Amino acid sequence: MQLREKEIKQGQSGRRRRVGVMGGTFDPPHYGHLAAAEAAWEDLDLDEVLFIPAGVPPHKKSEEVSAAHHRLAMVKLAVAGHPHFRVSRMELERPGPHYSVDTIRLLTEAQPGEEFYFIIGSDMAFELPRWYEPRQLVALCRIVVLNRPGYSMDELSCHLAGLFAAHPDHLLMHRVPGVDISSTEVRQRLALGKSARYLLPDAVLAYIKENHLYVNKAAGDGSGMCAAAGAGAGATPLRPPAELRAWLEMRMKPARLAHSERVMKAALQLAAVHDPERDPLVVQTSAILHDVARDLSVTELERIISEAGRSLPAKEWRSPALLHAEAGALLVQKELGINDPEVLGAIRYHTTGRPGMTTLEKIIFLADYIEEGRSFPGVEEVRRLAAVDLDKAVLTALEQSIMYIIKTGRPLHPATLEARHHLLAKVKR
Ligand code: FE
Ligand code: FE
Repeated sequence: MQLREKEIKQGQSGRRRRVGVMGGTFDPPHYGHLAAAEAAWEDLDLDEVLFIPAGVPPHKKSEEVSAAHHRLAMVKLAVAGHPHFRVSRMELERPGPHYSVDTIRLLTEAQPGEEFYFIIGSDMAFELPRWYEPRQLVALCRIVVLNRPGYSMDELSCHLAGLFAAHPDHLLMHRVPGVDISSTEVRQRLALGKSARYLLPDAVLAYIKENHLYVNKAAGDGSGMCAAAGAGAGATPLRPPAELRAWLEMRMKPARLAHSERVMKAALQLAAVHDPERDPLVVQTSAILHDVARDLSVTELERIISEAGRSLPAKEWRSPALLHAEAGALLVQKELGINDPEVLGAIRYHTTGRPGMTTLEKIIFLADYIEEGRSFPGVEEVRRLAAVDLDKAVLTALEQSIMYIIKTGRPLHPATLEARHHLLAKVKR
């Protein structure tokens, strides 16, 4: 077998075996994953690429994820026939939560003579400093960041420089042929009964059909979310905003709550134009809850984030203005049992934005920006754009915010810049 020959050759040359590691939910695996693995395998001269389907990914703690046996079966089908791709079930057999650093630690203990190359997309790399024990992870293996359309590799290198200070050679930025497919997109198409042919291997597609996966299920950016939020195992159905009032009044000042109600009104108007299929309850819930943690102190916000097992951002980002978004999402999840990933994402990213925002995230971000109580210079332009073009409106709002933040001398969050880059690549002006 080819792999065996390569191994013997490498044993003779004294070079350590190089193993690429592709973690992920693989719900479902698609050609984006395979093309990335193939490019990394070839360009970095890896001996093999190990696909490791995640148990319950730490950043998706309570989202609805397809059963492990289905995801494992799909990954096996996806890599079948490739002599250098292998599937490991190590994360599926280990009790959670599963952090990448633990996975790599277990791999290096089991195979001490090998060098590990942890392969991630630039969207994930951006979040790397916020992962669990990121420095330990970076010390243990090389991180291969594959470029995805819309991301600036230079900015990403700057963003990650601090994290890799002790091991600069462990950061490998790598350009791959642009296969911009996401599992969310695939699920969305399938949930809508559309074709996903040529997005993933036929064998995987056949498996999905046979097992009725992704039928009326969480589709990420798109419709069908309410069904997902209500029907998923352990998920709590959303409640009408009126029923949340008492809970909100305990935590928010009246003026803030009034702002949230105006955001709700604006968000419903935006959704009616740009996302008409969406269940309005999802929009209302995201809007009314987006600032639930805005009146809490830094100490309280930090406690919420730490208690949820999330690492705190660097000191410079620990202001209520930035922490309230993340803390709000965690609070809503913990106390109201809301697990709808779209609602949580809309709350989590409403302040900074992020690259690859979902439609709901854009709607909440914009509604917060243009609700009728806002009267700063430039808001009218964004209101005008919001009526016709969601992306252009978000892009303009991001650019106005960036200019404003620079002018006031406050630190500019990299997610905001990345969000702008990402949209700029998409929007024709
Ligand atoms: Fe806010
Ligand atoms: Fe707000």
